Amino acid sequence: MEISNIKNKILGNNRISRKEIQFLWEHADDKTLQEFAQVTRSRFHDPDECTYLIMAIVNYTNICVAKCDYCSFYRLPHQDGTYLLSFEQVSEKIDSLIGYGGRLVGFNGGFHPKLRITDYAKLFSQIRTRYADRLDFYEMTVAEFMFSCKVSKLTYAEGARILKESGTGWVTGGGAEVLDDAFRFRHSPGKYKVEDYFDGQKAILDAGMGSTATMVIGFDETLEERLNHLERLRDFQDETNGGLASFLCWTYKPWNNELGGNEIETGEYLRWLAICRIYLDNFVNIRTSVLTKNEDALDGLLFGANDFDLPTEDEVTQKAGATISIEFEKILQRARSLGFEPRKREPFAINTSKQPAIRTIDQTISATQVTLN
Ligand code: SF4
Repeated sequence: MEISNIKNKILGNNRISRKEIQFLWEHADDKTLQEFAQVTRSRFHDPDECTYLIMAIVNYTNICVAKCDYCSFYRLPHQDGTYLLSFEQVSEKIDSLIGYGGRLVGFNGGFHPKLRITDYAKLFSQIRTRYADRLDFYEMTVAEFMFSCKVSKLTYAEGARILKESGTGWVTGGGAEVLDDAFRFRHSPGKYKVEDYFDGQKAILDAGMGSTATMVIGFDETLEERLNHLERLRDFQDETNGGLASFLCWTYKPWNNELGGNEIETGEYLRWLAICRIYLDNFVNIRTSVLTKNEDALDGLLFGANDFDLPTEDEVTQKAGATISIEFEKILQRARSLGFEPRKREPFAINTSKQPAIRTIDQTISATQVTLN
């Protein structure tokens, strides 16, 4: 295999195979990965364009029964320090975000053994009513949705219909970490199996709601497990005609949990972002994680990312060692110093970027126009 052959495929808008992306990961230098990722990025976005928004992740409960060994956030129901925020407490957090100029709230809790889908639907309806026209919401992660359907004794289709009818517009693909069953068995056997996760995503999309894709790297996952994640995700995106609006990758933080370990270097994160951009040719939006990499995340714009959040809080990653800065101008300056003019965007704004045709081995697919996030 030759890097020059892979380059020609990328320049010709041809799909890169799993073996080829593995070859790039193992043999391409940083400069080459940057170059290939920027070529792929330019199919959708202007070279000096990047977008961002200010958002908060509101953790409404830390009660969880999944017991993932990499998690620093959860408490079992009988343990000290558990909480389930009231509507007023959630509102206080949202008010704080508005004070920072934020436009988006993502809700993320745990696998609470008593919260049914109807409980979520009621809470989210109240919140939407209070903040109508001021904010948009990711109302839960797919992983929480799946668990709550089980608690409610509903199929995913039934649960998704209840959310949709109550007014939910979006969930996130959070809780994905590494989508590989061996990884899941080692670290979070109580959470879900990979095909179950995609069944949950499919039900959300089929009900007419939006969703996203995520990945977390830097645990002890193998390259094969990482590639399994990307391959299954790319297949799902093909199957749903570009159903997931964006892909966000961040890094595992190893503090205050059972698994421990060391955080991976920023350089590895950036290289992996480039791999994601090149391989996930049916995702318009690849996002870099300020939440876990602070200003260094902006270097991800050189490795194929086109969008990022400026977060104001997320207890899950902060408990694991993430530090959040609200010096937004300083962070944005990093993007400018790299040659990108950051543009503040509305949540779920229509992306009017170019729509490339990606040629696969046996078919030609068109990347559909999707909303961002
Ligand atoms: S990662 Fe999520 S599902 Fe796993 S233990 Fe933590 S809160 Fe629960």
